[in-house]
Amino acid sequence: MKESYSRFMEDHLWIIKETEWDKGIQAIRETQFALGNGYIGSRAVMEEIPYDARPGTYITGIYDKLTAQVSEMVNFPNPVNFKFTVTGEKIGVSAMEVLSHKRVLNMKKGLLLRNTRYRNSKGDRFDYQSLRFISMHNKNIGAMQIVLTPLDKDYSVDVETNIDTSVYNAGSVTEGRKKHFRVRELGQKSNAGYLSVETFAKKYALVYWSGFYYEYEGKKTYAKDNIFRIRVKKRKPIVFTKIFYIEDVPADKAIPKHREAAFKKFYKAFHSKFDTLLNEHIQAWAKLWEASDIVIKGVANILINMRFNIYHMLICGYFDNGVSSIGARTLSGEGYRGHIFWDTEIFLLPFYVHTNPRVARNMLLYRYKRLDQARTIAKEAGYKGAMFPWESAGSGFDDTPTWAKDINGEIVKIFTNKMEQHITSDIAFAVRSYYNATDDEEFMKDYGCEIMFETARFCASRAEYNKKKDIYEINHVIGPDEFHIDVNNNAFTNTMAVWNLLAAYRIFNDLKKKSPKVYSSLKKKIHLKDSEVGHWKTVAAKMKKSNTNRKGVIEQFDGYFKLKKAGFKEVDENGIPVLPKNLSTVDMGKTQLIKQPDVIIMLYLLSDFFTFEQVKENYRFYMIKTAHKSSLSPAISALMACRAGDIFRAYHFFNVTLRADISNLYGNTYEGAHAASLGGTYQALIFGFAGLKKSEKGLMVDPRLPRTWEKLVFPFHWKGQTLEFEVDNSEVKIKAKSRKKKGFNIIVFGKKQLIKGSKTYTFTRETKPPVGKFFFY
Ligand code: BGC
Repeated sequence: MKESYSRFMEDHLWIIKETEWDKGIQAIRETQFALGNGYIGSRAVMEEIPYDARPGTYITGIYDKLTAQVSEMVNFPNPVNFKFTVTGEKIGVSAMEVLSHKRVLNMKKGLLLRNTRYRNSKGDRFDYQSLRFISMHNKNIGAMQIVLTPLDKDYSVDVETNIDTSVYNAGSVTEGRKKHFRVRELGQKSNAGYLSVETFAKKYALVYWSGFYYEYEGKKTYAKDNIFRIRVKKRKPIVFTKIFYIEDVPADKAIPKHREAAFKKFYKAFHSKFDTLLNEHIQAWAKLWEASDIVIKGVANILINMRFNIYHMLICGYFDNGVSSIGARTLSGEGYRGHIFWDTEIFLLPFYVHTNPRVARNMLLYRYKRLDQARTIAKEAGYKGAMFPWESAGSGFDDTPTWAKDINGEIVKIFTNKMEQHITSDIAFAVRSYYNATDDEEFMKDYGCEIMFETARFCASRAEYNKKKDIYEINHVIGPDEFHIDVNNNAFTNTMAVWNLLAAYRIFNDLKKKSPKVYSSLKKKIHLKDSEVGHWKTVAAKMKKSNTNRKGVIEQFDGYFKLKKAGFKEVDENGIPVLPKNLSTVDMGKTQLIKQPDVIIMLYLLSDFFTFEQVKENYRFYMIKTAHKSSLSPAISALMACRAGDIFRAYHFFNVTLRADISNLYGNTYEGAHAASLGGTYQALIFGFAGLKKSEKGLMVDPRLPRTWEKLVFPFHWKGQTLEFEVDNSEVKIKAKSRKKKGFNIIVFGKKQLIKGSKTYTFTRETKPPVGKFFFY
């Protein structure tokens, strides 16, 4: 039997596949092969919903909260289930003998394809093929096709397909599984069915439309019901096509009214040719890849894995005027309940800034739209300005749970919402980085400046004045390294706050000169006085500076150097330290071991403030103490290893972050892709190996590729245009399509170069290409 979809299975270097059915890794595959378009996220469950499958259908930005719980991203009814039964036997991987099985995720075209061959208890074989996608062209549409062929005998096939409401949220840590919606309407019209559901807290409602038809022996029939029987002849394939439509109901609209409005849009898609829907979808994907694909020449497996990371960022990127942002596990699973952490701004955002700035803007708008809540949080904690919550969901108020799992799986009380306050400056940092890359003045005037001022305000009021020493301190915090809880003057937190204060100070003065109208109205709106802004500068200048040792190593927080020195005795096959069993976070907190880069990530983000020597020394000091017990860790380690000249470890860590989800390295990919690792992998490649650096002086390029990579080719959005880079260790080519009359400077191999107009520039390294230093630890 020829594969109907084989043409999509052969996109060389663009596919991820499984070639056997393995129940044990089913939930991992569901994440890895997930589909989505930013609005809908759909886990790759098999259509027959095998035992233990974890169907997941998520709509970006939709959370629900039951009393006394934190909000959770809602797992909505599953539209992709499709079941067949023949003479009482279900056709499916867990119910019939599987003779062969192949599933392919075509990342270029956003298609999930499958071919499974079964044998029933009578010894008769069935060929099953399917294709499905969540349309990238039309955010509300999903489509699927199944081709079923009895190979040995004619059969009566019982068909059952509906929108499955028997789904639930998997639950986490202290809570069991639970449903977050109730059915409001169920009905049929014009050979299609509808379903309306409402979240328990009644904040959101969704309408679904779905319909299907089958084509058999040249005849197309629209199914009148979801359950029916049909006779299928031996070796005569029957093709089922199901189209579904999902849309959230605006708060001010009645469900029935909206359902009918949605019907029209659904009907149009339902009665379009399947190939038309498919082609529109494929074209939309082609556009996305044009702006984001990174070609790593010479290493096919790394290239495919890199595309896998990018694919997962593309299926959750969206813009909806700040209604939603991207959670720590994207839209592919329920890990961290879909909450939004600093992962979003510091790890993920740069990918979108440089490939699809509209998505980045939306992520920042999401914060802006919750600025009032952040103001309330600050006020309730006794501070001024805006204090963003550590975990954010729909409301913008803090959604951090009280309990979480420890590094060895024990359930412990957590304090991140109270103490991990660096997130506020991280968001300000992201605002500024977005602006630096895009020159989006409008965004700054309408939203960005306000975020900058309110976060600076918070930093100034959060810093405590120590009269005796005439310094400001930020005490009782948790830095990025969560092994050390309740520390004083965490270098990262303090330095990011200083940056926040100074950046806001500068922006305030620039605004005064450049846009006096905006300046006055904003001042009025948030009651900001010049004296208060002046005070920001004072606080920044007097902020407690971290101690450094004689080599320039920055102390992570007050007293860190005095903690017990510790190292790791064992590493696993990925070079990740193996921690002694039964060691708790509290035990770790008594040593110098750290969970993830803390000082090191500061050296990356604020690279203008630090010299190469400092980078090197701090990297050497902290890297051997880093347990990498967070998926955020290897990416930044790879990047900074590159910058420290340790190409060996850079390559090694890069391979860890690159494979985090494709190889399930953290053992929890089933809960969704690790957003920070996806974005971190991008940053390690671009700001590590490709050698790009965003500095006060402008963009810098100085590649340091691994020897086996021939070159890197990638688009990079900068200053309102997409530059095309082609780099290796001795040459940098930049293709510019400049809209800027004046052009802009890029520092290539240490020399300032003017990029202007539409032109391809080639720069050659004049000195010897960099070689990796051999570091002894
Ligand atoms: C990390 C945090 C991160 C969170 C969500 C934690 O394990 O330490 O930095 O924000 O996971 O990914």
